[in-house]
Amino acid sequence: MIIEVEQGRRATVDQIRDLAARFGNRVESMGGQGVYALLHIVGDTREFSARAGYVKSLPGVRRAWRVSADYKNIARTVTDDAGNAIPRPRREVAVKGLDGIERRFGGARPHLFVAGPDSAQTLEQTLAIARAIKAMAEKLDILDRVILRGGAFKPRSSPTSWRGLGMKGIAMLDAAREETGIPYVTEVMDLNLVDEVAAHADMLQIGTRNAQNFDLLEVVGRAQKPVILKRGFGNEAKEWFFAAEYIANQGSLDIVLCERGMKTLFTKGGYCRNQPDLNVIDHARRQTILPVIFDPSHVAGDHTIVAQNLLASVAHGADGSITETLHDEAFRVEQLCDAEQALLMDRYTRAVEAVLAFESAVKPHLDAASGPRGKVS
Ligand code: PEP
Ligand code: MN
Repeated sequence: MIIEVEQGRRATVDQIRDLAARFGNRVESMGGQGVYALLHIVGDTREFSARAGYVKSLPGVRRAWRVSADYKNIARTVTDDAGNAIPRPRREVAVKGLDGIERRFGGARPHLFVAGPDSAQTLEQTLAIARAIKAMAEKLDILDRVILRGGAFKPRSSPTSWRGLGMKGIAMLDAAREETGIPYVTEVMDLNLVDEVAAHADMLQIGTRNAQNFDLLEVVGRAQKPVILKRGFGNEAKEWFFAAEYIANQGSLDIVLCERGMKTLFTKGGYCRNQPDLNVIDHARRQTILPVIFDPSHVAGDHTIVAQNLLASVAHGADGSITETLHDEAFRVEQLCDAEQALLMDRYTRAVEAVLAFESAVKPHLDAASGPRGKVS
């Protein structure tokens, strides 16, 4: 539901907030025009909407209407009761580190770099990558644009493959954050473990295999942590948006969409692990308010084609990327999951430098070339 209310009507806004809180909804400001502010009631708003008459009676409320969009909470454009399209501002999702620095995905923010091992495997390895990421970020003056990644609960195709260290891996990621101050994201698979992992991690990840695990999506939506939602490897864009809506319906809009490639007939040839869908980045940024990032590692499956994919996603306006990196070539043989696609930190640093060079030298030309369709922020 969207409510148009006169600016400065504090008491009315407080009453609206109280009513929303009663039904587990949250109130988000959508900006507004002139003397009116627009409020968006986030979550499953059926109970709230049943009180529309009361809301409309509050002093200063001009209009209140239900949103008609397939995915109400995350849609970029909603219509008012007269059928006029109302664009909503793109959302920024913030992740704060122990260093006190807030990293922000989306809106008009520049590309954010999530990097780290596929999995935390040893303390030394996890600390070494975190240190290398920090050193890179300081050298390139982008400490506010880096987040650490690392798996602890690993979804594996074969039941006999290594499946991560569980909470021991989380402890290693905690140690890396403690030392570097950089926040980390890690995958959750079991809905019964979400709260335990969320008590440690700065951001949760839902992997491609769980992208339509609706119970898990709902539990994560209540965990009060930002989340990266990978696209299911066989999902249409709309199914992906609906998956995000499952999270948003629990009252959380701190969702970052992540394209990570699909299984297609063409990937059977073996030249890449998954087929990257770069156009869906533009599409998702137009259709939803959410930040959209790209995973160049799982589309590649081969470290020699990760950097190209990363750059391509930046050209498509990705709000960030999540890349699997390696601290030392000698460790590749020790790595128990996704060793072949891990990009050595020295090379990753060159890829990041290429992104920074792109932003200053090429992006203005590309924005002009792609025209209004490309203007999505
Ligand atoms: C991962 O990030 O290591 C991972 C398992 O990703 P995906 O769910 O995209 O396969
Ligand atoms: Mn992986």
